[in-house]
Amino acid sequence: MKYKIKKLLRCENGVSIVIVALAMSVLFGFTALVFDVGSLLESKRRLQTVADAAALAGAQKFAETILNNGTTMEAEASAHNSAIEYITKNGIQEACTTISIDQQNKTVTVDVYEEQDLAFAPMIGFSKGRKEAHSKAVTGPIDSCEGMLPVFVTGGEKSGVVSLRQGLPPPDNPGNFYALALGGTGNQNYEEKLKFGYDGLICLGQELTTETGNKPQGTVNGLQYRIDKCTELHGGSCNALSYTPGCARIVTIPVCAGSPSGRDKVTVTGFVSLFIESVTMHGGEAVVNVTFINCITAGHVGGPDQTADYKTWGVNLID
Ligand SMILES: [Zn+2]
Repeated sequence: MKYKIKKLLRCENGVSIVIVALAMSVLFGFTALVFDVGSLLESKRRLQTVADAAALAGAQKFAETILNNGTTMEAEASAHNSAIEYITKNGIQEACTTISIDQQNKTVTVDVYEEQDLAFAPMIGFSKGRKEAHSKAVTGPIDSCEGMLPVFVTGGEKSGVVSLRQGLPPPDNPGNFYALALGGTGNQNYEEKLKFGYDGLICLGQELTTETGNKPQGTVNGLQYRIDKCTELHGGSCNALSYTPGCARIVTIPVCAGSPSGRDKVTVTGFVSLFIESVTMHGGEAVVNVTFINCITAGHVGGPDQTADYKTWGVNLID
């Protein structure tokens, strides 16, 4: 009996050692997996960030080229170069990268992969991990935007310095602009929105309520505030061809259809960007000198079949 117990104990000891050995290797394998999977996920996240930024850089360059009157072929080439430059600057080989550009839909797609040596997984039979990232950015005319000024024009493409005058007939005169009641009504609201922009979203096809009457003093106060901001922050050195990004003198406003009177509604047909040259009071009217500019803004890019293109484009990630 004694012997049997001893034998059993010996036997159980043997089993224990096997169990411990198995448990350790499972534990080790598990630790290796956790470590390597963790490091793969971390570098996969980094790869995704690089792919996103490269797609955006490519789309931005595509837009810049077209808005500077380049051809679509030139836009494609510069978008490709810009995306590749971003990829290689971040230590990823060009050979592991595929950039595809759709001229029609104005998209830049980036596919990139990397192989990574694993630290512990080779001991359980895996030596390399592969990570992939896919990203797609689009550019083109915007179909919605925040931060609009409470004014609109009825025509959107002009060159040189244009004198905009407030609310004068005929209403389809593109040299006119009209006040909008955005996020409120009245003089004070109008002037505030001119200074700081309307923080709600304005979309293509949306109906907007016009603001009653001309507001020459509000127009002068609001727009002069923006010119003064540029003087304060950029020494007033900005102009329509060269300006500090985000300058208060660069504004985006809706282009609308309709003949407003009173609080009539008008319909948004597009968006146009302006550089505010000057604002003066002239015979009781506000005269605003602006230059219509081609501009990339923070707005949302509309569909490729969008007709009104007043050269105010956005750059968005879509995939
Ligand atoms: Zn400025």
